[in-house]
Amino acid sequence: MSRILIIEDETSIAELERDYLELSDFEVELEEDGSKGLERALNEEFDLMILDLMLPGMDGFEICRKFREEKNTPIIIISAKKEDIDKIRGLGLGADDYMTKPFSPSEMVARVKAHLARYERLIGSGSPENEVIEIRGLKIDKTARRVWIHGEEKNFTTKEFDLLVFLAQNPNHVYTKEELFSKIWDMESIGDIATVTVHIKKIREKIEFNTAKPQYIETIWGVGYRFKV
Ligand code: CA
Repeated sequence: MSRILIIEDETSIAELERDYLELSDFEVELEEDGSKGLERALNEEFDLMILDLMLPGMDGFEICRKFREEKNTPIIIISAKKEDIDKIRGLGLGADDYMTKPFSPSEMVARVKAHLARYERLIGSGSPENEVIEIRGLKIDKTARRVWIHGEEKNFTTKEFDLLVFLAQNPNHVYTKEELFSKIWDMESIGDIATVTVHIKKIREKIEFNTAKPQYIETIWGVGYRFKV
């Protein structure tokens, strides 16, 4: 059963939210003080948080900001603040959704379910069935063909991905451009080997902090490239 924390100081609204969620079989905890709410959110296990903005103790923006430094649990802001600037601020601080009061409780329940499902898919994406390579902050999911550097996903073209995976799977081995070209482009080495150089450059721009001092793909002058571990 999913556990939801509601931080809301207006009792009638908090109870309305709770009643609808309990009807959908969620376990619900209420907290009316902002700083106590944050403390509970950080120290207890919840699957989702519903957050008001104007609260005693600490406002919802501050709760959102501090909570996001520690946890990725979904947050839905439900507030009387209707201005775009508040929505932009809330979403910018890491809230996943924003609803304005008065709201439809059934829609709230639907959104809660959607965010819980999305979050489960997200944390399940690195499941053991997927073949994953992880090296110093670089994560490559071979099954899903996705790449993250320090948690941030980067988009790779097919050949960039194939080249990165080939090098990462054969670390500390120096390959010439000709060898890489024939392995990845699947042809006799008659193509333009400058293609390899261009692809290495693009991969570095995505995964290296400083492309002049690569941490992952090293240039061996006059020979080729090597993936460092
Ligand atoms: Ca309030």
